[in-house]
Amino acid sequence: AQSTLDQVIALAKRRGFVFQAGEIYGGSRSAWDYGPLGVELKENIKRQWWNTFVRGRDDMVGLDSSIILPKAVWEASGHVETFTDLSVESKLTHKRYRADHLWEAFEKKHGREPNSWDEVPDPETGQRGNWTEPRSFSGLMKTYAGVVDDESGLHFLRPETAQGIFVNFNNVLNVARRKPPFGIGQVGKAFRNEITPGNFIFRTREFEQMEIEYFTAPDDAQTWFERWVEDCWDWFTDLGLREENLRRFDVPAQERAHYSAGTIDFEYRFGFQGGEWGELMGVANRTDFDLSSHSKASGTELSYFDQATGERYTPYVIEPSFGLTRSMMAFLIDAFTEDEAPNAKGGVDVRTVLKLDARLAPVKVAVLPLSRNERLSPAARDLADALRKHWNVDFDDAQAIGRRYRRQDEIGTPFCVTVDFDTLDDQAVTIRGRDTMSQERVSLDQVEAYLAPKLIG
Ligand code: ATP
Repeated sequence: AQSTLDQVIALAKRRGFVFQAGEIYGGSRSAWDYGPLGVELKENIKRQWWNTFVRGRDDMVGLDSSIILPKAVWEASGHVETFTDLSVESKLTHKRYRADHLWEAFEKKHGREPNSWDEVPDPETGQRGNWTEPRSFSGLMKTYAGVVDDESGLHFLRPETAQGIFVNFNNVLNVARRKPPFGIGQVGKAFRNEITPGNFIFRTREFEQMEIEYFTAPDDAQTWFERWVEDCWDWFTDLGLREENLRRFDVPAQERAHYSAGTIDFEYRFGFQGGEWGELMGVANRTDFDLSSHSKASGTELSYFDQATGERYTPYVIEPSFGLTRSMMAFLIDAFTEDEAPNAKGGVDVRTVLKLDARLAPVKVAVLPLSRNERLSPAARDLADALRKHWNVDFDDAQAIGRRYRRQDEIGTPFCVTVDFDTLDDQAVTIRGRDTMSQERVSLDQVEAYLAPKLIG
């Protein structure tokens, strides 16, 4: 039997959420493309995040900084020196793996660390101890900028959006008239030269992040850290992730990133083979590491003068860092449901439903004339055009109505509006809810008012 994860991946490809990048040329392992439904879902997640954490709060402002920054930024941030992973190559299959991933997999399985690489099995063949020496490998993606095509033009694509926020600290502080505690939020692409991209959109070399850098007085950092962990948890569960599929992991000191004095990862039950859970996002206490490093390296003081106490200090930073594309994968998996629906023969069929929160659903309303007909279709089109002013609306008049309901259920459309022959007389339509499949007759001039409170956000 197919796992839920496999079913979700198949659905995502079949219905146009996610396509393989460069598929007609055999595809790239680095990235995926987001199709007509995928781009809507991703935008909706992004909008919910922005509305909750940036616009919805008086202590937050937004930013959109560049992907290519001066190389000095990545030297000061520590990325050039420490954003490296160890990789090992299997002498049997010649595949490369992240050394820490293999090491941790062994630890999780046996409850202890391996004594040496001789004990660690090859994930594909199961054979032990056929590894090359671990080799260090930079996770930074390189590119060359400028007209001279040599090392002097070497630049890095950002591996996190955070640094663009830190280097703009003074700019934002001056224009936004905020003082700590306050934060800056940003959504955008990030790039990492991952050794083993995989598990669909879970780990890619090009991906999107939604990050907050929240600046506080050093003494308040721990309190804000704990509040942010709660706020992030609430955001996911409010948008529908089930609590039993979400857990916190307090990352031990030796496994934390070089800048972190404390990290809580949220793990989601993605359902991977051989280890169900995977990191969804992380909240880190970055201390004053970044602002201090950039102050020192750039010669520009990035600090805050507190008029109340007459003291100048370098704020601490609490960083909730979300993967947008990883979040999308989690929302898809959590929403995937199979239940039963009545069929035309009086029996029941298994139906696939994406029980996405209406705020995330890529299509909000489908307008379906009962059959393709010269009187029904124009009335239905007029209704679809009116609703399209507010929401993303699908119009579909091909195939039997039951099939069309199934198609909408499968992509998570919360409401289907059916225009039938009675509509021409009574000026009313049938509105069907996705989860309950219950139907209500609503007069045409009340359709918008009926849907509006159910489709807010
Ligand atoms: P991992 O251990 O999975 O490599 P990480 O701890 O290096 O992740 P962070 O540096 O904390 O990840 O990045 C913050 C978030 O960005 C992650 O929680 C994840 O949601 C997202 N992210 C990081 N790397 C990738 C990637 N290669 N593909 C997709 N999303 C990613």
